[in-house]
Amino acid sequence: MKYFIGNWKMFGVPKSINILNKINLFYSKDANRNKYKIIITPPYTLIETFSKHFKNKKILIGSQNCYQKDKFSSNTGAVSSHMIRSVGAKYTLVGHSDNRAEGDTDLMLKNKIKFALKNNLKVVFCIGENKNDKKNKRTFSIIRKQLTKVLEKKFNQKNIIIAYEPIWSIGTGKLPTRAELDSTTTYIKSILKKIFRKNIPPVLYGGSVDDISINFFKDIRLINGFLIGGASKSSKKFIDIIKNYYR
Ligand code: PEP
Repeated sequence: MKYFIGNWKMFGVPKSINILNKINLFYSKDANRNKYKIIITPPYTLIETFSKHFKNKKILIGSQNCYQKDKFSSNTGAVSSHMIRSVGAKYTLVGHSDNRAEGDTDLMLKNKIKFALKNNLKVVFCIGENKNDKKNKRTFSIIRKQLTKVLEKKFNQKNIIIAYEPIWSIGTGKLPTRAELDSTTTYIKSILKKIFRKNIPPVLYGGSVDDISINFFKDIRLINGFLIGGASKSSKKFIDIIKNYYR
């Protein structure tokens, strides 16, 4: 099973559901539809409307983040996994580099995952090195720390997906080389194997994936899907990513 996850970031108002209606129409007729899942993470404000609208359809809705405490608390502006699940979301991103840049620590991320799983959300845990780490050949050590300091053996790995998103690639049009992607994905899977022993989570790639660059990823079998930012806001681009991937 492959995953195509669209992360809308700070984009969208209620009428933006038209984008998803077009994607859903394509999906419902696509001969390849049993080979993949589509998950869209709109902003919190749209989760309930979108979840209700697509309840019996194949598009799954997730949140872009969740708070590191259970249920309710006195944290202004915070939204917990319990609240996210209560309005119909099935997934949440955790540890996106945008949120790490705003102060997410390993402990916060661990708690976010813990409460998300407790509240029946599947977790898409984002990891990845920055430009400087890459330049100084620290990619593997950064990734190892990001995984081992947060993930615990007792977490149910069946409800976890890893998204490898090199920060230097997000929104820049820069892609890793084939060799870099092969070796980093293999490394990530080896660390996951050490943590979970068996049934390791799928590993997705994210960073400048669009309807053109998807051709580069087509035959990289180790990658179990994609986290797509900018290109997920256009129904045409998102549909073309899927079409080109299976062409
Ligand atoms: C992202 O922000 O998760 C992302 C992958 O963005 P983009 O596809 O625009 O590089």
